[in-house]
Amino acid sequence: MIKSIVAGNWKMNKTPKNGKQFISEVMANVDEIINVDIIFFPPFTGLYNLDVSSPFYLGAQNCYFKDSGAYTGEISLSMLLECNVDYVIIGHSERRQIFNEKNDSINKKVIKVIESGIKPILCVGETIDEMNAGKANDIIKEQLISGLNNIKSLSNIIIAYEPVWAIGTGLTASIEQINKANIFIRKILSQLFDDKESENTPILYGGSVSSTNANELISIDSVNGFLIGGASLDVVKFTEVIKIVNGQ
Ligand code: PEP
Repeated sequence: MIKSIVAGNWKMNKTPKNGKQFISEVMANVDEIINVDIIFFPPFTGLYNLDVSSPFYLGAQNCYFKDSGAYTGEISLSMLLECNVDYVIIGHSERRQIFNEKNDSINKKVIKVIESGIKPILCVGETIDEMNAGKANDIIKEQLISGLNNIKSLSNIIIAYEPVWAIGTGLTASIEQINKANIFIRKILSQLFDDKESENTPILYGGSVSSTNANELISIDSVNGFLIGGASLDVVKFTEVIKIVNGQ
C-alpha cells in the first residue's frame, strides 16, 4: 500500500522566522498522524536549522544538478542535505513557465537528486491550451519519458500530476479528469519500469486543493496525496487537509 503524502509548497512566501513558527503551529495542531507523511517546502532560506521528525519532513522547491562552482543563484544537493532535506520538487510548472526550464535539465536534476539519496517529486501537467487542443496526454507522456530518462528505478520517485490551469486559480480538475490522467501516468510508468515499481509509485494531485475539496479529491483511488500551494500557507487549512488525508 502506498503511504499518503501531503506536501506544502510555500513558493516565495514566508521568511525563515515565519516559516519556523508556522511549522511548529502545524505540528502542535495535529496528533496521531499515522497514515500520512507531511512535507514542508519553504524557500531555501527557511530550510536551515529546522527541527522536524517523522511524519514531518523538509523539502526544497528546486535544486541545481552541479556539485558546486560558478553557478550564481543556484543551490546544490549537498547544501540541501546539510539542511536535512528529504524531498525536492522538480519541474514545477512555475519553473517550467517562468524560468524556462526544459525537460532536459529537469531530467539532469532528477538524476542528481536520486544520486544524492533525496526523493524527487517530478511535476507533470498540461496547460489550458494543451488541454483544449487535446494534447494533455502527449504532454504528460513527454514530460515523463524525458524527465525519467536514464533512471533505473522508480523506487524513490514521486510524481505530481498538476494541470497548470488548476494551479493557483481556484479551479480543480474533475474527479474523472484526475483519474484518467493518473491512470495514464501509471500506464506510461509501467511501460518504462517494471510493474511492481510503477504500481508502488505515489502520484499526488496538485491544483487548488484546499480543506473544502480535499475530502472529495482524496477519495479518488488513484490519488496518493496532494501537492498544495495556496492552502499550505494557512495553518488551519493545511492542518485540516492533513487530518482529512490521515482519516482515509
Ligand atoms: C502548486 O503550487 O503546486 C499548487 C498546486 O498550487 P495551488 O494549490 O495554489 O493551486
